[in-house]
Amino acid sequence: MNALAPIKKGYAQGTSGRRFESFEARGSRFNLADDHPAIVEGRTIMPKRVFAPTEVKRILVSGKNSRKIGDRVARGRWAGAPIFTLTLEERATCPRTCAEWKTCYGSNMNWAKRIAHGPEFESMLWAELEAKQAAHPAGFVVRLHVLGDFYSVAYAELWGEAMAAFPALRVFGYTAHAPDSEIGRIIGRLNERHADRFAYRFSGLDEPERGSVVIEPGADTPHTVCLAQRSLTNAAGDKKAECCATCALCWQSPRTIAFWRH
Ligand code: SF4
Repeated sequence: MNALAPIKKGYAQGTSGRRFESFEARGSRFNLADDHPAIVEGRTIMPKRVFAPTEVKRILVSGKNSRKIGDRVARGRWAGAPIFTLTLEERATCPRTCAEWKTCYGSNMNWAKRIAHGPEFESMLWAELEAKQAAHPAGFVVRLHVLGDFYSVAYAELWGEAMAAFPALRVFGYTAHAPDSEIGRIIGRLNERHADRFAYRFSGLDEPERGSVVIEPGADTPHTVCLAQRSLTNAAGDKKAECCATCALCWQSPRTIAFWRH
């Protein structure tokens, strides 16, 4: 089978937002209408960019493929560790309470390969984590959910089991689950239990620590603005352009991070 062949998920392949008149830009980001099928059905607007786990070479992808992430941690307590990313399907794996449900930046990420979630994904993910543990016993980082989120209690608990099974594993990311939700409490416990290896923030939590908020570019905020966004937006040719690998703030500190809407 073609490694890039899209999976069929029961909804129309190639659905185009252009059919929906209320599909409008909000800044440079799409703001889907309430009746857009992707909003109603809870899924990406790009079903052709969702792949079965068996249709991709790997589930965990090197951060070198992302200018914002970077391939190896350059500073701080995770220095030297390679970084890998995991991308799931936006909305299909996310809580409907997400504040960016209609404005998800996934709608602008035509190139992103989303891995279809479920039991097959979970068993292949586990096998890849085992291989990474063997290949990088001194440490490796997974930036969870470039798109998507913890889609079930069992899946969140799987990450807890992985943290216990793979001592080299380090994780960072952001979730739309509320801290007091069932999944949010699991994530909070992982933050506490593995404070040196698990660094997760709650999207929309506008408090000094453990939150991440979205603000308009340049808006005042008491929080630290993501250094990668600032340096990438500043100017082409910025010699000090940061990425997560060189910044490290998200796992060095619990401080809330502000992201510019883009
Ligand atoms: S603040 Fe630093 S570590 Fe966090 S997302 Fe931005 S660049 Fe990455």
